[in-house]
Amino acid sequence: MKKVLVVGGGPAGLSAAEALAGLGFEVYLVEKEDKLGGLPVKESRYKLFPYEKSPEELLNPLAERVKEKVRVFTGAEVEAVLTDRPPFDVRLTNGETLRVDALVLATGVKSFDPTRKGELGFKLVNGVVTNAQLEAMLARNELKEPGSVAFVFCVGSRDLQLGPSYAHCCSYGCAHAGMLALELKRRFPSARVYCFYTDVRTCSTLERRYYLLPQREGVRYVRGRVARIYEQNGKPVLKFEDTLLGRPSELAVDLAVLVLGLEPSEGTKKLARLLSLKQDESGFIAEEREGVFVAGSCKGLLTLQEALTDGKATALRAALYLKGEKT
Ligand SMILES: Cc1cc2nc3c(=O)[nH]c(=O)nc-3n(C[C@H](O)[C@H](O)[C@H](O)COP(=O)(O)OP(=O)(O)OC[C@H]3O[C@@H](n4cnc5c(N)ncnc54)[C@H](O)[C@@H]3O)c2cc1C
Repeated sequence: MKKVLVVGGGPAGLSAAEALAGLGFEVYLVEKEDKLGGLPVKESRYKLFPYEKSPEELLNPLAERVKEKVRVFTGAEVEAVLTDRPPFDVRLTNGETLRVDALVLATGVKSFDPTRKGELGFKLVNGVVTNAQLEAMLARNELKEPGSVAFVFCVGSRDLQLGPSYAHCCSYGCAHAGMLALELKRRFPSARVYCFYTDVRTCSTLERRYYLLPQREGVRYVRGRVARIYEQNGKPVLKFEDTLLGRPSELAVDLAVLVLGLEPSEGTKKLARLLSLKQDESGFIAEEREGVFVAGSCKGLLTLQEALTDGKATALRAALYLKGEKT
């Protein structure tokens, strides 16, 4: 029986592994964290669009199905690929060496480090948090009624000041912030909730639920990049240019939420190096080669739903290859 190793147990890796096992291949999956589920389980603590379910509710059933059919190694990584062509001998950091006929890379992304944009006040200004931190507060019911909240979109995305490798859009930020802004407005109807955006990218069916509906329920969208956040009287003050009105302005709020961009994970960069795969300017994997398939956001940012679908599509391409058919 042909064997496949899936590297990365996030949404894309899990859906690829499940599909490959369902198609009759012997599948291994290696995940560096102790838990399966990827970035949503690690960082998003509250709920995921478009499903509006918690990461655990959404991804645990998939992880359980995978564990039934696939040999899963958690807390381990690929240390070395000892052969250049298939079959690949792959050494893991847990001491196992696996011989497999194909590899599916699904090593995903990590969040932008907001301390790199010191001007936005993360860890320096009271009341500045990340979107992941806000989710954790909502999940634990820890958020006291705020008078005002501002979401700052595109922190570490579409930002050429950081260099050409930060030109990409994070794909999830606009809809994610729209969902959380609406949630705040519904929980705290008298709170003033603002979204500071570059331009809103809520594609297809996301537009109605996560851009139009928040506005209808009172979330105010302000077009303009926030240049600086400073502290006054213990609260964050946003300095920005309203690019529709064409004038600089300031706004004091109780809570400023930085909507963080995503970039290739260290694992993505490491696997690209180990397998000599081209990376684009942002570091995403930009090619596949014989026996090596790339799934999910390690090749460019996808929403969760897209990552799940792409995992299945990649599994199908790998299966056709393993059956000797051209893809
Ligand atoms: C705070 C936050 C909230 C979000 N909310 C939403 C939302 O509501 N809806 C939505 O559509 N998207 C959301 N996203 C985006 C979503 O997380 C991504 O679309 C999704 O995680 C992409 O899945 P993936 O499998 O491609 O990658 P990942 O989720 O990054 O999974 C990659 C996996 O590979 C593992 N890995 C990495 N390197 C190695 C290695 N060398 N060896 C073994 N394992 C390795 C990682 O530990 C990880 O488990 C959110 C993101 C964040 C940060």
